[in-house]
Amino acid sequence: MSDSRTILIVEDNIDNRTLLGDMLSALDYTVLEAVDGVEGVDIALANVPDLILMDLSLPNKDGWTATREIKAEKSTAHIPVIALTAHAMVGDRERALEAGCDDYMTKPINILELKKKIESYFSSKASST
Ligand code: MN
Repeated sequence: MSDSRTILIVEDNIDNRTLLGDMLSALDYTVLEAVDGVEGVDIALANVPDLILMDLSLPNKDGWTATREIKAEKSTAHIPVIALTAHAMVGDRERALEAGCDDYMTKPINILELKKKIESYFSSKASST
């Protein structure tokens, strides 16, 4: 059973953003979308979503910087951030975790794996409160 948890997708590629948005909507999540890092930080601060999917390679403000800013704000620091990247480089993963990302997935995104990851964040959040 899924209540209306809100997930923010920060992704500049419209095809990826639409695919993820459609998939999460079909799972009954409320979906917010941002097209670059600047908008991603703005929407995160304004709406305080329950989880953020963060592309790392973004225009205007990259995903690492956006994540750092979100994690530095008291009101949004608790939000799990899952980094999405096309790069399978080990250094990329380390940089994402250093920036404060809680998790990391390499594109193309495995939808089933992503669904399980999201559910694990929501179930651990529910049981800890
Ligand atoms: Mn991108």
